[in-house]
Amino acid sequence: MITRSPRLLQRTDAVPANPIHRTESWQTQLSRAVRDPHELLERLGLDAAWLPGADAGHALFAVRVPEAYLRRIRLGDPADPLLRQVLPVTAETRTPPGFVTDPLAEAEHTPRRGLIHKYVGRVLLITSPACAINCRYCFRRHFPYAENSPSREQWQESLDYLRADTTIREAILSGGDPLASSDARLAWLVEELAAIPHLQRLRLHTRLPVVIPDRVDDALLDWLAATRLQTVMVLHINHPAEIDDAVIAACARLKDAGVTLLNQSVLLRGVNDDVAVLAELSEALFAAGILPYYLHVLDPVAGAAHFDVPDGEARALHRALRDRLAGFLLPRLVREIPGEASKTPL
Ligand SMILES: *Cc1c(COP(=O)(O)O)cnc(C)c1O
Ligand code: SF4
Repeated sequence: MITRSPRLLQRTDAVPANPIHRTESWQTQLSRAVRDPHELLERLGLDAAWLPGADAGHALFAVRVPEAYLRRIRLGDPADPLLRQVLPVTAETRTPPGFVTDPLAEAEHTPRRGLIHKYVGRVLLITSPACAINCRYCFRRHFPYAENSPSREQWQESLDYLRADTTIREAILSGGDPLASSDARLAWLVEELAAIPHLQRLRLHTRLPVVIPDRVDDALLDWLAATRLQTVMVLHINHPAEIDDAVIAACARLKDAGVTLLNQSVLLRGVNDDVAVLAELSEALFAAGILPYYLHVLDPVAGAAHFDVPDGEARALHRALRDRLAGFLLPRLVREIPGEASKTPL
């Protein structure tokens, strides 16, 4: 059960029970995310048998789970599909051959610090080193963010690169999670991007509206709605239980601001490797105004091998899914192969 550590007591004191003071700012929620494997287990009513694995995994890639996401996890259920995405386990310390630290060879496609240009017409900008949540299967769990977190002057180099290449139509803000940056910083960057005449689209790859729905606040919607660029947000949701009322409300506000909402998922053993779950996910996404875009097979990153679903099984799941869903609800099953000019269909 929950130990009343001084920190927890402090938190309880700081948040009045009065429902009128409903929410903390997203920044406060982010700073108060659970970062201690012991606390995570206690909060979720899981026994100490999970602790050695949690500690070992945490030493490789730190625990981070915001409260708003934690609330969607069933108590006392180690098999909960949301829990599995965030709880470090012993298997992370075992790395079979072929699972490496930079599976996408991104280091080879970084012409400017924090800028990845692999595909025609679109460039990915590492906008923030941080994420609101640390997903255990993340292909960037070993990414050298310290070397790829540009200052404003370094941003100018990236902006110069975009200005000089008129084939680039789309700037993709990624991370980490770009929405972990402040709105002041993002508004500045988006204004600079909008001033580049050949840029047409702004895309954000983010999980923040899912894990802390209060991130979608007025300050965010102001700059999103104001830009001349067409805006696309690619969310990251793996399981229908991640979509609660707060997520649905956040998506509605984004759509009102003119944002096209897409979703990418990762096919994960023990989380969503089931045709009924994937079908329900697509339906729930569309009900929230989000179109399923990609279903990625796992990138072979060290520490995540236990999430792997073999290709044959992935194809069979996708075929079964196709037989159940409207065509526009079927995500594309893809893999990222270093050196290819696009994601590769399986
Ligand atoms: C995935 C990715 C993109 C976007 O690819 P789309 O198929 O357009 O979604 C762009 N740049 C990089 C480096 C990527 O990894
Ligand atoms: S939010 Fe995305 S980038 Fe961040 S840890 Fe999760 S999968 Fe990785």
